[in-house]
Amino acid sequence: MMPTNRYLAVALTLLAAAHASAALHVVATTPEYGAIAAAVGGDKATVVTLAKPTEDPHFVDAKPSHIVTLNRADVLIEGGAELEGGWLPPLLDGARNTKIAVGAPGHIRASEGIPLLDVPAVLDRSQGDIHAAGNPHFMMDPQNARVVAKHLADAFCVHDAPSCSVYKANLAGFLAKLDAKTAEWVAALAPFKGTPIVTYHPTWRYFAQRFGLVSDVFLEPKPGIPPSPPHLADVMKKMNDQKIRVVLVEPFQSRKTAEAVADRTSAVVVDVCQFPGGLPGTQNDYIALIDADVKAIVAGFQAAK
Ligand SMILES: [Zn+2]
Repeated sequence: MMPTNRYLAVALTLLAAAHASAALHVVATTPEYGAIAAAVGGDKATVVTLAKPTEDPHFVDAKPSHIVTLNRADVLIEGGAELEGGWLPPLLDGARNTKIAVGAPGHIRASEGIPLLDVPAVLDRSQGDIHAAGNPHFMMDPQNARVVAKHLADAFCVHDAPSCSVYKANLAGFLAKLDAKTAEWVAALAPFKGTPIVTYHPTWRYFAQRFGLVSDVFLEPKPGIPPSPPHLADVMKKMNDQKIRVVLVEPFQSRKTAEAVADRTSAVVVDVCQFPGGLPGTQNDYIALIDADVKAIVAGFQAAK
């Protein structure tokens, strides 16, 4: 029947238009990659992030919907330093998508070209160390976010050449804003150069290196191993000896443990997060996240004086 055919034709045209306006289907494992992919992709890409900002990135709850998302992806961005080693491989197997399989051009490893900290001299997973390939939390240094944003723009250009000029313009805008804000962050933290901090997990090593802080004491005895009373006693001794007055904790870590340690050492607990959306007003915005983290840490140092 004619009218039905006409409706069908209109529906197909609309569908094609919807596809044309979102040329590239991008999946990110964690929200900071998703936020930067969205900044670079603009309206030429749809970006879906698998992990929630309030979820421990080492232990993400794998869902069937993640497999469906990965099955439809043109490009996948993962950290590439075993951050997602515990949960991504089975999802990728289930997705059966050759475009984003390990080694395929659509599979982007963000760590490429980034020097990792804490790479062990001897590979040893026997102690449950989840940083066996080196510290995967390199995105906490805005200079590394710079490298990753460029990497993404290059990859998007390969996979969607007609929109390349848009990706390059979006990248330039993102980098200009990031550079301006980085100068502000360096200035804000400069008065606290050399100040030691305690963190729950070694997430803030790259941040500390960039901004001149010292991050060598952790509530976890090893990455991924929960705090034990003897280890916490040792941490509190170090805090007293080194006059460490600030403990950083993220939404998915035990604030209770951080408070217990802070109470016994006259320190303050500071709520921070490595993921956009984990702090108020930072949803899908990497620069807003680092800005909120810097402000919270500066306020913590001032409160601890
Ligand atoms: Zn970690």
